[in-house]
Amino acid sequence: MDVLAALRLNPPLAEGIRRFGFRRWYERELIFSHVYLALAIVALAGLLGSIELFSEASLMGKLIYTAFVCICAAVVFFAVQGYLLALSAAESIANQARCARCQTYGQLELTGHSAVAVHVRCRKCGHGWVMHT
Ligand SMILES: [Zn+2]
Repeated sequence: MDVLAALRLNPPLAEGIRRFGFRRWYERELIFSHVYLALAIVALAGLLGSIELFSEASLMGKLIYTAFVCICAAVVFFAVQGYLLALSAAESIANQARCARCQTYGQLELTGHSAVAVHVRCRKCGHGWVMHT
């Protein structure tokens, strides 16, 4: 799990709310998740290109293309993991961002946090609740 946590480009929720506000944090989470998707597509193109060129290469070229295929495959794997991690985290947290009292969405103020929970308060009505990360 530490490897997957290291793939996160956006700060954790509590720090993100404090630094950017919830809506900006959520927007950044979605943007960074799609950066991972773009990286996966580019690496996949490199992988397929290397496979295409493999048959016509010399022995040294085949070794280089084999190494490049392995590197691209690893990049695709970790980029897809980062994409899914960021996207699922954003969706899970976005589903908890609506105030139960006044139904305002995403107008949050950080009041505290622990390793698995973020305590927030609605900026409109002052209602507090816990978001689980
Ligand atoms: Zn409210």
